[in-house]
Amino acid sequence: MIYADYNATAPVRPEAKQAMMAALDVGANPSSVHGPGRAARKLLEQARSQIGLAIGARAQDLIFTSGGTEANALALNGVVAQLDGKCTLLVSAIEHEAVTKNAGYAGVPVETAYVTPEGTLDLQWLQDRLAKWDLSRDGTPILALMMANNETGVIQPVMEAATMVREAGGLTHCDAVQGLGKVMVNVGLLGVDYLALSAHKVGGPQGVGALWVRSGAPLKPVLFGGGQERSLRSGTENLSGIAGFGAATEAAIRDMPKLQALATHRDAMEAKLASEAGITVFGAGSDRLAQTSNFAIPGFRAETQVMAMDLGGVAVSSGSACSSGKVKRSLVLSAMGVEDALAESAIRLSFGWDSEIADFDAAAQVWLDAARRTVLKSA
Ligand code: PLP
Repeated sequence: MIYADYNATAPVRPEAKQAMMAALDVGANPSSVHGPGRAARKLLEQARSQIGLAIGARAQDLIFTSGGTEANALALNGVVAQLDGKCTLLVSAIEHEAVTKNAGYAGVPVETAYVTPEGTLDLQWLQDRLAKWDLSRDGTPILALMMANNETGVIQPVMEAATMVREAGGLTHCDAVQGLGKVMVNVGLLGVDYLALSAHKVGGPQGVGALWVRSGAPLKPVLFGGGQERSLRSGTENLSGIAGFGAATEAAIRDMPKLQALATHRDAMEAKLASEAGITVFGAGSDRLAQTSNFAIPGFRAETQVMAMDLGGVAVSSGSACSSGKVKRSLVLSAMGVEDALAESAIRLSFGWDSEIADFDAAAQVWLDAARRTVLKSA
């Protein structure tokens, strides 16, 4: 089977497995003061340092969570709570539901920040909106802008947007779940205030993530209990998961040049499918993650393609796959102005650390064979 669904979950890296097994063997609570507890704490802090190093952050500014979703939820609800709701959330139109839905439930006004047809935040729109900002009426502006989109791979102008927001007296939260290990993520250079990460997108285990919070940035906890993670996220830490996250992150940063080199093969695959089947590639005019490809041809329904690819031995997602596996209209493609008829045929291929060059050719061939049997036959 060729696995081309890394943006959903990357297979666990050997380094992560090894670190997880070692952590399981410790078998103690990192908050305990005895020797085994201290050994657990050492592993926890080692992982924090590995992840901090990867994003140019101080380890102590990272809070471990149960995943990317919780990291986003903590950032948005935590800042709103600390500001007593005196803020307005500006949420980019292409954010993951972990951001849009938490923003929607945060109990403060939410405005959609538009994107261009190429799938990047419309900086002109942001500038115009901030120019009209009324701090007494709108409160603090809080922008939520992801590092790279999970469906299209389009990389966002986070640094530029965060600068504008900061100059307007606001704060920026960045969901970097799809960015880590694929592009450089440096919190200082980005100039953001909060940044969410998830282990299972970099070859760590599922169910572990982290939120980086700039020292001094407003944040109230949303979960209360034993006071772990500087009282910002109570609950005994998932030690083996976190150890796997740290090891996977270190390996992902080491392997980043190799991952970025996949762009050549991704581009060749897209060029072949464009010339032989006339596909439309979404976000092709923007900087994209090297390993992501989202494309469509009219009339070839996404579900049909995903099934045909699966039968042909290639695991992919529909461009709009949601967590339940059902296909629904892609809000990302809609936000980019893609017509429903075309968006319904969008599929996403995403490669990663264990992909081989031959996988791109093989995936393209399986897709072309399926297209020739169905939609291209009638063309
Ligand atoms: N943000 C983005 C951009 C994602 O792609 C995902 C995962 O699909 C998440 C957040 C949620 O992360 P997790 O699955 O760790 O909760």
